[in-house]
Amino acid sequence: MALNPKKNNVSKIVSDYLCNSCGACYAVCKQGAIKYHETIGGYLFPKVDGKKCIFCGLCYEVCPGIHFNKCMVSQMSDNPFVGKILSCYVGRASNKEIFNNSQSGGIVTAFLIYLLKTRQISAAIVATMQTNISPRGQVTIATSVEELIKSQKSKYIPIPMLSVINQVKKFEKPVAFVGLPCHMHGLNNLFDFDPELKSKILIKIGLVCDRVLTNAAVDFLGQSATNLPIKNLIFRDKQCPNYPGNPVIIAENGDKIILNASLRMAIKNFFTPVRCRLCFDKLNIFSDVTLGDPHGLEGINRKLGESMIMIRTKTGHNIFDAILDDEAIAVRQIDYQNAITGQHINDKKIQWISYIEAWKQLERQNPNFFKLLKINFSPILNNKKYLRDLSYSLALDNFNSREELLNYVRMALKRKKKLSLFCFPLHLIKRFVKFFLTVLWYPQKNSGRDNAN
Ligand SMILES: Cc1cc2nc3c(=O)[nH]c(=O)nc-3n(C[C@H](O)[C@H](O)[C@H](O)COP(=O)(O)OP(=O)(O)OC[C@H]3O[C@@H](n4cnc5c(N)ncnc54)[C@H](O)[C@@H]3O)c2cc1C
Ligand code: SF4
Ligand code: SF4
Ligand code: SF4
Repeated sequence: MALNPKKNNVSKIVSDYLCNSCGACYAVCKQGAIKYHETIGGYLFPKVDGKKCIFCGLCYEVCPGIHFNKCMVSQMSDNPFVGKILSCYVGRASNKEIFNNSQSGGIVTAFLIYLLKTRQISAAIVATMQTNISPRGQVTIATSVEELIKSQKSKYIPIPMLSVINQVKKFEKPVAFVGLPCHMHGLNNLFDFDPELKSKILIKIGLVCDRVLTNAAVDFLGQSATNLPIKNLIFRDKQCPNYPGNPVIIAENGDKIILNASLRMAIKNFFTPVRCRLCFDKLNIFSDVTLGDPHGLEGINRKLGESMIMIRTKTGHNIFDAILDDEAIAVRQIDYQNAITGQHINDKKIQWISYIEAWKQLERQNPNFFKLLKINFSPILNNKKYLRDLSYSLALDNFNSREELLNYVRMALKRKKKLSLFCFPLHLIKRFVKFFLTVLWYPQKNSGRDNAN
Protein backbone atom coordinates (compact mmCIF):
# COMPACT_ATOMS: atom_id res chain seq x y z
CA MET A 1 0.00 0.00 0.00
CA ALA A 2 1.39 3.42 -1.00
CA LEU A 3 1.81 5.83 1.89
CA ASN A 4 0.50 9.39 1.54
CA PRO A 5 3.38 11.81 1.01
CA LYS A 6 4.36 13.71 4.16
CA LYS A 7 2.76 17.16 4.24
CA ASN A 8 3.87 20.24 6.14
CA ASN A 9 2.84 20.99 9.69
CA VAL A 10 3.03 24.46 11.26
CA SER A 11 6.56 24.08 12.65
CA LYS A 12 8.15 26.08 9.82
CA ILE A 13 5.54 28.86 10.16
CA VAL A 14 6.37 29.12 13.84
CA SER A 15 10.13 29.12 13.32
CA ASP A 16 9.65 31.88 10.74
CA TYR A 17 7.75 33.93 13.35
CA LEU A 18 4.66 34.13 11.12
CA CYS A 19 2.40 32.64 13.80
CA ASN A 20 -0.15 34.99 15.37
CA SER A 21 -1.28 32.52 18.09
CA CYS A 22 -4.84 32.26 16.72
CA GLY A 23 -5.48 28.63 17.79
CA ALA A 24 -6.74 27.31 14.41
CA CYS A 25 -4.01 24.66 14.13
CA TYR A 26 -4.78 23.34 17.62
CA ALA A 27 -8.48 23.07 16.71
CA VAL A 28 -7.93 21.19 13.47
CA CYS A 29 -5.36 18.62 14.68
CA LYS A 30 -7.21 15.35 15.30
CA GLN A 31 -4.06 13.69 16.67
CA GLY A 32 -3.78 16.10 19.61
CA ALA A 33 -0.21 16.73 18.45
CA ILE A 34 -0.25 20.51 19.11
CA LYS A 35 0.33 22.27 22.43
CA TYR A 36 1.07 25.93 23.20
CA HIS A 37 4.21 27.06 24.96
CA GLU A 38 5.61 30.45 25.93
CA THR A 39 9.04 31.41 24.62
CA ILE A 40 11.65 33.52 26.42
CA GLY A 41 10.49 36.56 24.42
CA GLY A 42 6.90 35.93 25.56
CA TYR A 43 5.55 34.59 22.25
CA LEU A 44 2.76 32.05 22.67
CA PHE A 45 3.54 29.49 19.98
CA PRO A 46 2.19 26.05 19.05
CA LYS A 47 4.65 23.17 19.36
CA VAL A 48 4.15 20.00 17.32
CA ASP A 49 4.81 16.67 19.05
CA GLY A 50 6.84 14.77 16.44
CA LYS A 51 5.71 11.43 17.92
CA LYS A 52 2.02 12.19 17.48
CA CYS A 53 2.08 14.13 14.18
CA ILE A 54 1.06 12.08 11.11
CA PHE A 55 1.93 14.90 8.66
CA CYS A 56 -1.62 15.21 7.34
CA GLY A 57 -0.95 18.89 6.59
CA LEU A 58 -4.27 20.16 7.97
CA CYS A 59 -2.78 22.56 10.52
CA TYR A 60 -0.61 24.06 7.81
CA GLU A 61 -3.58 24.50 5.46
CA VAL A 62 -5.76 26.37 7.98
CA CYS A 63 -2.98 28.61 9.26
CA PRO A 64 -3.79 32.30 8.64
CA GLY A 65 -0.18 33.15 9.49
CA ILE A 66 0.63 32.46 5.84
CA HIS A 67 -2.63 31.49 4.06
CA PHE A 68 -5.86 33.13 3.09
CA ASN A 69 -7.98 30.29 1.72
CA LYS A 70 -11.11 30.24 -0.48
CA CYS A 71 -13.56 31.70 2.05
CA MET A 72 -11.43 34.78 2.63
CA VAL A 73 -10.27 35.24 -0.95
CA SER A 74 -13.94 35.36 -2.04
CA GLN A 75 -14.66 38.08 0.53
CA MET A 76 -11.53 40.13 -0.10
CA SER A 77 -12.36 43.79 -0.59
CA ASP A 78 -10.89 46.10 -3.24
CA ASN A 79 -9.77 48.21 -0.30
CA PRO A 80 -8.40 45.60 2.14
CA PHE A 81 -7.32 48.16 4.72
CA VAL A 82 -10.92 49.32 5.18
CA GLY A 83 -13.21 46.53 3.93
CA LYS A 84 -16.93 46.81 3.32
CA ILE A 85 -18.77 49.18 5.67
CA LEU A 86 -22.59 49.46 5.60
CA SER A 87 -22.85 52.10 8.32
CA CYS A 88 -20.85 53.56 11.18
CA TYR A 89 -21.81 54.74 14.69
CA VAL A 90 -20.40 55.80 18.01
CA GLY A 91 -22.07 55.03 21.34
CA ARG A 92 -22.30 53.05 24.56
CA ALA A 93 -24.17 50.34 26.40
CA SER A 94 -27.30 51.72 28.11
CA ASN A 95 -26.76 49.55 31.19
CA LYS A 96 -24.54 51.45 33.65
CA GLU A 97 -22.77 48.36 35.02
CA ILE A 98 -21.80 47.15 31.54
CA PHE A 99 -20.69 50.63 30.48
CA ASN A 100 -18.68 51.39 33.61
CA ASN A 101 -16.89 48.05 33.50
CA SER A 102 -16.07 48.17 29.78
CA GLN A 103 -12.98 49.04 27.76
CA SER A 104 -14.56 51.77 25.65
CA GLY A 105 -18.38 51.89 25.43
CA GLY A 106 -19.35 48.33 26.41
CA ILE A 107 -21.00 47.73 23.04
CA VAL A 108 -19.37 44.28 22.62
CA THR A 109 -20.82 43.06 25.91
CA ALA A 110 -24.21 44.73 25.30
CA PHE A 111 -24.42 42.75 22.01
CA LEU A 112 -23.53 39.48 23.74
CA ILE A 113 -25.89 39.93 26.69
CA TYR A 114 -28.77 40.82 24.35
CA LEU A 115 -28.14 37.72 22.22
CA LEU A 116 -27.88 35.49 25.28
CA LYS A 117 -30.99 36.92 26.95
CA THR A 118 -33.07 36.63 23.77
CA ARG A 119 -31.83 33.03 23.45
CA GLN A 120 -30.37 33.57 19.99
CA ILE A 121 -27.06 32.11 21.17
CA SER A 122 -26.18 29.37 23.64
CA ALA A 123 -22.81 30.90 24.48
CA ALA A 124 -20.17 33.45 23.50
CA ILE A 125 -16.46 32.82 22.95
CA VAL A 126 -14.65 35.60 24.81
CA ALA A 127 -11.24 36.39 26.32
CA THR A 128 -10.57 36.54 30.05
CA MET A 129 -7.51 36.72 32.33
CA GLN A 130 -6.39 33.80 34.47
CA THR A 131 -6.15 35.39 37.87
CA ASN A 132 -3.45 33.20 39.35
CA ILE A 133 0.24 34.07 39.82
CA SER A 134 1.76 35.33 36.52
CA PRO A 135 -1.59 36.12 34.92
CA ARG A 136 -2.07 35.26 31.26
CA GLY A 137 -4.94 35.49 28.77
CA GLN A 138 -7.33 32.60 28.32
CA VAL A 139 -10.37 31.69 26.22
CA THR A 140 -13.75 31.35 27.94
CA ILE A 141 -16.98 29.94 26.55
CA ALA A 142 -19.36 32.18 28.46
CA THR A 143 -22.92 31.01 29.03
CA SER A 144 -24.01 33.57 31.63
CA VAL A 145 -24.25 37.35 32.00
CA GLU A 146 -21.81 37.21 34.96
CA GLU A 147 -19.17 35.49 32.82
CA LEU A 148 -19.66 38.06 30.06
CA ILE A 149 -19.18 40.95 32.47
CA LYS A 150 -16.01 39.26 33.80
CA SER A 151 -14.68 39.06 30.24
CA GLN A 152 -14.87 42.83 29.63
CA LYS A 153 -11.83 45.00 28.77
CA SER A 154 -9.04 44.47 26.26
CA LYS A 155 -6.21 42.04 26.87
CA TYR A 156 -3.33 43.21 24.71
CA ILE A 157 -1.67 39.81 24.61
CA PRO A 158 -1.93 36.73 22.38
CA ILE A 159 -4.87 34.44 23.18
CA PRO A 160 -5.55 31.38 20.94
CA MET A 161 -9.31 32.06 20.75
CA LEU A 162 -9.88 29.36 18.11
CA SER A 163 -8.44 26.57 20.24
CA VAL A 164 -11.92 25.92 21.72
CA ILE A 165 -13.91 26.37 18.52
CA ASN A 166 -14.89 22.70 18.12
CA GLN A 167 -16.79 22.89 21.39
CA VAL A 168 -19.45 25.08 19.75
CA LYS A 169 -20.84 21.93 18.11
CA LYS A 170 -22.11 20.62 21.43
CA PHE A 171 -24.50 23.55 21.88
CA GLU A 172 -28.07 23.44 20.65
CA LYS A 173 -28.01 27.02 19.40
CA PRO A 174 -25.19 28.89 17.63
CA VAL A 175 -22.61 31.01 19.47
CA ALA A 176 -21.19 34.53 19.11
CA PHE A 177 -17.45 34.77 18.49
CA VAL A 178 -15.41 37.79 19.67
CA GLY A 179 -11.94 38.14 18.21
CA LEU A 180 -9.08 40.11 16.74
CA PRO A 181 -8.64 40.28 12.96
CA CYS A 182 -6.19 37.34 12.93
CA HIS A 183 -8.75 35.22 14.85
CA MET A 184 -11.29 36.01 12.11
CA HIS A 185 -8.73 34.99 9.48
CA GLY A 186 -8.19 31.63 11.17
CA LEU A 187 -11.94 31.13 11.63
CA ASN A 188 -12.61 31.76 7.93
CA ASN A 189 -9.85 29.32 6.98
CA LEU A 190 -11.46 26.71 9.26
CA PHE A 191 -14.84 27.26 7.54
CA ASP A 192 -13.26 25.97 4.30
CA PHE A 193 -12.42 22.67 5.98
CA ASP A 194 -15.42 22.36 8.29
CA PRO A 195 -18.63 23.88 6.83
CA GLU A 196 -20.65 22.73 9.89
CA LEU A 197 -18.70 25.26 11.93
CA LYS A 198 -20.05 28.15 9.87
CA SER A 199 -23.66 27.32 10.79
CA LYS A 200 -22.66 27.35 14.47
CA ILE A 201 -21.41 30.96 14.51
CA LEU A 202 -24.28 33.43 14.61
CA ILE A 203 -22.15 36.56 14.58
CA LYS A 204 -18.45 37.46 14.35
CA ILE A 205 -17.81 40.47 16.58
CA GLY A 206 -14.43 41.88 15.60
CA LEU A 207 -12.16 44.24 17.51
CA VAL A 208 -9.96 46.84 15.88
CA CYS A 209 -6.34 45.76 16.43
CA ASP A 210 -3.05 47.49 15.88
CA ARG A 211 -1.00 44.88 17.74
CA VAL A 212 -0.76 42.70 20.83
CA LEU A 213 2.33 42.58 23.06
CA THR A 214 4.12 39.36 23.90
CA ASN A 215 3.42 37.92 27.36
CA ALA A 216 6.78 39.28 28.54
CA ALA A 217 5.05 42.70 28.67
CA VAL A 218 2.78 41.41 31.45
CA ASP A 219 5.82 40.45 33.53
CA PHE A 220 7.48 43.79 32.78
CA LEU A 221 4.46 45.80 33.94
CA GLY A 222 4.07 43.56 36.99
CA GLN A 223 7.70 44.09 38.03
CA SER A 224 7.38 47.84 37.39
CA ALA A 225 4.57 47.94 39.94
CA THR A 226 5.73 45.69 42.78
CA ASN A 227 8.35 43.24 44.03
CA LEU A 228 5.58 40.79 44.89
CA PRO A 229 4.23 38.22 42.43
CA ILE A 230 1.11 39.57 40.69
CA LYS A 231 -2.26 37.90 40.19
CA ASN A 232 -3.95 40.21 37.69
CA LEU A 233 -3.25 42.94 35.18
CA ILE A 234 -5.83 45.25 33.64
CA PHE A 235 -4.15 46.85 30.66
CA ARG A 236 -6.40 49.92 30.61
CA ASP A 237 -8.83 50.70 33.40
CA LYS A 238 -10.95 53.70 32.42
CA GLN A 239 -12.01 54.22 36.04
CA CYS A 240 -8.35 54.93 36.93
CA PRO A 241 -8.67 57.87 36.68
CA ASN A 242 -10.58 58.26 33.38
CA TYR A 243 -10.73 57.15 29.73
CA PRO A 244 -8.62 55.68 28.11
CA GLY A 245 -7.27 54.60 31.50
CA ASN A 246 -4.07 53.41 33.14
CA PRO A 247 -2.66 49.88 33.67
CA VAL A 248 -3.72 48.41 37.02
CA ILE A 249 -1.79 45.62 38.75
CA ILE A 250 -3.21 43.43 41.51
CA ALA A 251 -0.39 42.05 43.67
CA GLU A 252 -0.43 38.65 45.38
CA ASN A 253 -1.43 40.27 48.70
CA GLY A 254 -4.38 42.08 47.08
CA ASP A 255 -2.66 45.51 46.77
CA LYS A 256 -3.85 47.52 43.78
CA ILE A 257 -1.13 49.52 42.00
CA ILE A 258 -1.96 52.03 39.26
CA LEU A 259 0.80 52.54 36.72
CA ASN A 260 1.27 55.52 34.45
CA ALA A 261 -0.39 55.13 31.02
CA SER A 262 2.79 56.44 29.38
CA LEU A 263 4.65 53.29 30.54
CA ARG A 264 2.28 51.04 28.53
CA MET A 265 2.89 53.22 25.47
CA ALA A 266 6.67 53.34 26.03
CA ILE A 267 7.07 49.56 26.11
CA LYS A 268 4.93 48.82 23.03
CA ASN A 269 7.78 48.64 20.53
CA PHE A 270 9.88 46.47 22.84
CA PHE A 271 7.29 43.69 22.98
CA THR A 272 5.60 43.79 19.56
CA PRO A 273 5.49 40.35 17.87
CA VAL A 274 6.86 40.04 14.33
CA ARG A 275 3.50 38.95 12.91
CA CYS A 276 1.75 42.13 14.09
CA ARG A 277 4.22 44.20 12.09
CA LEU A 278 3.19 42.28 8.96
CA CYS A 279 -0.54 42.54 9.57
CA PHE A 280 -2.64 44.75 7.27
CA ASP A 281 -6.07 44.14 8.80
CA LYS A 282 -6.36 46.70 11.60
CA LEU A 283 -10.11 47.20 11.02
CA ASN A 284 -11.11 43.51 11.17
CA ILE A 285 -12.59 43.45 7.67
CA PHE A 286 -13.96 39.88 7.86
CA SER A 287 -16.19 40.48 10.90
CA ASP A 288 -19.95 41.18 10.91
CA VAL A 289 -19.45 44.16 13.22
CA THR A 290 -16.15 45.87 14.11
CA LEU A 291 -15.74 47.66 17.45
CA GLY A 292 -12.97 50.02 18.44
CA ASP A 293 -12.05 53.08 20.44
CA PRO A 294 -13.57 56.35 19.19
CA HIS A 295 -10.21 57.79 18.10
CA GLY A 296 -10.40 61.15 16.33
CA LEU A 297 -14.19 61.45 16.63
CA GLU A 298 -15.90 64.57 17.89
CA GLY A 299 -18.23 64.99 20.87
CA ILE A 300 -16.99 61.88 22.66
CA ASN A 301 -17.52 61.20 26.37
CA ARG A 302 -13.97 62.03 27.55
CA LYS A 303 -14.48 60.72 31.10
CA LEU A 304 -15.67 57.16 30.42
CA GLY A 305 -15.24 56.66 26.67
CA GLU A 306 -17.46 55.24 23.95
CA SER A 307 -17.20 52.56 21.26
CA MET A 308 -16.80 53.13 17.53
CA ILE A 309 -19.07 50.68 15.64
CA MET A 310 -18.70 49.59 12.00
CA ILE A 311 -21.55 47.48 10.61
CA ARG A 312 -20.16 45.30 7.83
CA THR A 313 -22.72 42.61 6.91
CA LYS A 314 -26.47 42.02 6.78
CA THR A 315 -26.19 39.76 9.84
CA GLY A 316 -24.42 42.52 11.74
CA HIS A 317 -26.98 45.06 10.55
CA ASN A 318 -30.04 43.01 11.61
CA ILE A 319 -28.68 42.23 15.07
CA PHE A 320 -27.57 45.85 15.58
CA ASP A 321 -31.08 47.11 14.66
CA ALA A 322 -32.72 44.67 17.08
CA ILE A 323 -30.42 45.79 19.91
CA LEU A 324 -31.20 49.42 19.14
CA ASP A 325 -34.95 48.67 19.25
CA ASP A 326 -34.41 46.99 22.61
CA GLU A 327 -32.65 50.20 23.80
CA ALA A 328 -29.72 48.14 25.11
CA ILE A 329 -27.35 50.60 23.40
CA ALA A 330 -27.43 54.34 22.75
CA VAL A 331 -25.64 55.42 19.57
CA ARG A 332 -25.40 58.19 16.98
CA GLN A 333 -24.48 57.75 13.33
CA ILE A 334 -21.15 59.12 12.08
CA ASP A 335 -19.46 59.51 8.72
CA TYR A 336 -17.35 56.36 8.23
CA GLN A 337 -14.58 58.46 6.66
CA ASN A 338 -14.08 60.17 10.03
CA ALA A 339 -13.72 56.78 11.72
CA ILE A 340 -11.15 55.66 9.14
CA THR A 341 -9.19 58.88 9.50
CA GLY A 342 -9.35 58.58 13.31
CA GLN A 343 -7.89 55.06 13.09
CA HIS A 344 -4.94 56.38 10.98
CA ILE A 345 -5.48 53.85 8.22
CA ASN A 346 -3.33 55.77 5.73
CA ASP A 347 -0.37 55.58 8.14
CA LYS A 348 -1.10 51.87 8.64
CA LYS A 349 -0.88 51.34 4.86
CA ILE A 350 2.50 53.07 4.62
CA GLN A 351 3.85 51.17 7.63
CA TRP A 352 2.58 47.85 6.30
CA ILE A 353 4.15 48.37 2.87
CA SER A 354 7.42 49.35 4.53
CA TYR A 355 7.47 46.30 6.82
CA ILE A 356 6.67 43.98 3.91
CA GLU A 357 9.54 45.45 1.89
CA ALA A 358 11.86 44.98 4.87
CA TRP A 359 10.58 41.41 5.37
CA LYS A 360 11.41 40.61 1.75
CA GLN A 361 14.93 41.93 2.33
CA LEU A 362 15.27 39.49 5.23
CA GLU A 363 14.45 36.70 2.73
CA ARG A 364 11.79 35.08 4.89
CA GLN A 365 8.76 33.02 3.88
CA ASN A 366 5.97 35.26 2.46
CA PRO A 367 2.28 34.78 3.28
CA ASN A 368 0.14 34.18 0.16
CA PHE A 369 -2.11 37.17 0.85
CA PHE A 370 0.71 39.64 0.17
CA LYS A 371 -0.15 39.08 -3.50
CA LEU A 372 -3.92 39.11 -2.92
CA LEU A 373 -3.83 42.63 -1.54
CA LYS A 374 -2.87 43.98 -4.98
CA ILE A 375 -0.98 46.94 -3.57
CA ASN A 376 1.50 48.65 -5.83
CA PHE A 377 4.72 48.72 -3.88
CA SER A 378 6.52 51.99 -4.06
CA PRO A 379 10.23 51.98 -3.21
CA ILE A 380 10.92 52.97 0.40
CA LEU A 381 13.63 55.59 0.63
CA ASN A 382 14.72 54.77 4.16
CA ASN A 383 13.55 51.43 5.44
CA LYS A 384 16.25 51.10 8.13
CA LYS A 385 13.65 51.69 10.87
CA TYR A 386 11.45 48.88 9.54
CA LEU A 387 14.35 46.46 9.21
CA ARG A 388 15.46 47.38 12.73
CA ASP A 389 11.96 46.86 14.20
CA LEU A 390 11.57 43.45 12.53
CA SER A 391 15.05 42.32 13.52
CA TYR A 392 14.38 43.39 17.10
CA SER A 393 11.08 41.46 17.26
CA LEU A 394 12.83 38.42 15.75
CA ALA A 395 15.57 38.67 18.38
CA LEU A 396 13.24 38.69 21.41
CA ASP A 397 13.85 34.97 21.87
CA ASN A 398 17.65 35.34 21.67
CA PHE A 399 17.94 36.49 25.29
CA ASN A 400 19.16 33.82 27.71
CA SER A 401 16.26 34.32 30.08
CA ARG A 402 13.08 36.36 30.59
CA GLU A 403 14.88 38.34 33.31
CA GLU A 404 17.69 39.28 30.89
CA LEU A 405 15.10 40.56 28.38
CA LEU A 406 13.26 42.59 31.03
CA ASN A 407 16.54 44.11 32.26
CA TYR A 408 17.44 45.05 28.70
CA VAL A 409 14.10 46.85 28.27
CA ARG A 410 14.51 48.64 31.62
CA MET A 411 17.98 49.91 30.63
CA ALA A 412 16.80 50.92 27.15
CA LEU A 413 13.90 52.92 28.64
CA LYS A 414 16.30 54.68 31.05
CA ARG A 415 18.59 55.60 28.14
CA LYS A 416 15.62 56.89 26.16
CA LYS A 417 14.50 59.02 29.10
CA LYS A 418 17.98 60.51 29.54
CA LEU A 419 18.20 61.25 25.83
CA SER A 420 14.82 62.95 25.78
CA LEU A 421 15.83 65.12 28.79
CA PHE A 422 19.00 66.08 26.93
CA CYS A 423 17.05 66.78 23.71
CA PHE A 424 14.29 68.77 25.44
CA PRO A 425 15.97 72.22 25.11
CA LEU A 426 16.77 71.46 21.44
CA HIS A 427 13.16 70.46 20.92
CA LEU A 428 11.97 73.76 22.44
CA ILE A 429 14.32 75.76 20.18
CA LYS A 430 13.04 73.81 17.15
CA ARG A 431 9.44 74.55 18.07
CA PHE A 432 10.20 78.22 18.62
CA VAL A 433 11.90 78.52 15.21
CA LYS A 434 8.93 76.76 13.57
CA PHE A 435 6.49 79.07 15.35
CA PHE A 436 8.52 82.11 14.35
CA LEU A 437 8.60 81.05 10.70
CA THR A 438 4.94 80.03 10.37
CA VAL A 439 3.22 82.64 12.52
CA LEU A 440 5.49 85.65 12.47
CA TRP A 441 7.72 85.55 9.42
CA TYR A 442 5.72 83.88 6.58
CA PRO A 443 2.56 86.00 6.99
CA GLN A 444 4.65 89.18 6.84
CA LYS A 445 6.44 87.94 3.74
CA ASN A 446 3.18 86.89 2.07
CA SER A 447 1.35 90.10 2.95
CA GLY A 448 4.27 91.97 1.37
CA ARG A 449 3.69 89.93 -1.80
CA ASP A 450 -0.05 90.62 -1.73
CA ASN A 451 0.63 94.33 -1.55
CA ALA A 452 3.05 94.11 -4.45
CA ASN A 453 0.37 92.37 -6.55
C1 LIG B 1 -5.27 43.41 21.39
C2 LIG B 1 -6.23 44.54 21.14
C3 LIG B 1 -5.82 45.64 20.38
C4 LIG B 1 -6.71 46.68 20.12
N1 LIG B 1 -6.28 47.76 19.38
C5 LIG B 1 -7.13 48.77 19.12
C6 LIG B 1 -6.71 49.89 18.34
O1 LIG B 1 -5.55 49.98 17.91
N2 LIG B 1 -7.62 50.87 18.07
C7 LIG B 1 -8.91 50.79 18.52
O2 LIG B 1 -9.69 51.69 18.22
N3 LIG B 1 -9.34 49.75 19.26
C8 LIG B 1 -8.49 48.73 19.56
N4 LIG B 1 -8.92 47.66 20.30
C9 LIG B 1 -10.36 47.56 20.66
C10 LIG B 1 -10.75 48.28 21.93
O3 LIG B 1 -9.70 48.18 22.87
C11 LIG B 1 -12.03 47.67 22.57
O4 LIG B 1 -11.86 46.29 22.68
C12 LIG B 1 -13.25 47.90 21.73
O5 LIG B 1 -13.45 49.27 21.59
C13 LIG B 1 -14.50 47.26 22.37
O6 LIG B 1 -14.73 47.86 23.59
P1 LIG B 1 -16.07 47.56 24.42
O7 LIG B 1 -16.11 48.52 25.56
O8 LIG B 1 -17.23 47.55 23.49
O9 LIG B 1 -15.78 46.07 24.91
P2 LIG B 1 -16.03 45.36 26.33
O10 LIG B 1 -17.47 45.37 26.66
O11 LIG B 1 -15.06 45.86 27.33
O12 LIG B 1 -15.64 43.85 25.94
C14 LIG B 1 -14.35 43.53 25.49
C15 LIG B 1 -14.41 42.26 24.67
O13 LIG B 1 -13.15 42.07 24.04
C16 LIG B 1 -12.75 40.71 24.16
N5 LIG B 1 -11.29 40.65 24.16
C17 LIG B 1 -10.46 41.31 24.99
N6 LIG B 1 -9.19 41.03 24.70
C18 LIG B 1 -9.20 40.16 23.67
C19 LIG B 1 -8.18 39.49 22.94
N7 LIG B 1 -6.89 39.66 23.19
N8 LIG B 1 -8.57 38.65 21.96
C20 LIG B 1 -9.87 38.46 21.69
N9 LIG B 1 -10.88 39.08 22.34
C21 LIG B 1 -10.54 39.91 23.32
C22 LIG B 1 -13.38 40.25 25.48
O14 LIG B 1 -13.61 38.89 25.41
C23 LIG B 1 -14.70 41.04 25.53
O15 LIG B 1 -15.71 40.29 24.93
C24 LIG B 1 -8.04 46.62 20.62
C25 LIG B 1 -8.45 45.53 21.40
C26 LIG B 1 -7.56 44.49 21.67
C27 LIG B 1 -8.00 43.32 22.50
S1 SF4 C 1 0.26 17.78 10.33
FE1 SF4 C 1 -1.70 16.88 10.98
S2 SF4 C 1 -1.16 15.55 12.67
FE2 SF4 C 1 0.60 16.86 12.34
S3 SF4 C 1 0.29 18.52 13.77
FE3 SF4 C 1 -0.62 19.15 11.84
S4 SF4 C 1 -2.76 18.59 11.95
FE4 SF4 C 1 -1.68 17.49 13.57
S1 SF4 D 1 -1.12 31.37 13.17
FE1 SF4 D 1 -2.70 30.15 14.16
S2 SF4 D 1 -2.85 28.31 12.89
FE2 SF4 D 1 -0.92 29.30 12.34
S3 SF4 D 1 0.61 28.32 13.61
FE3 SF4 D 1 -0.07 30.12 14.71
S4 SF4 D 1 -1.71 29.42 16.06
FE4 SF4 D 1 -1.39 27.83 14.50
S1 SF4 E 1 -1.99 43.10 14.69
FE1 SF4 E 1 -2.85 41.50 13.41
S2 SF4 E 1 -1.61 39.69 13.87
FE2 SF4 E 1 -1.28 41.15 15.52
S3 SF4 E 1 -2.75 40.58 17.07
FE3 SF4 E 1 -3.67 42.20 15.83
S4 SF4 E 1 -4.83 41.11 14.28
FE4 SF4 E 1 -3.41 39.64 15.18
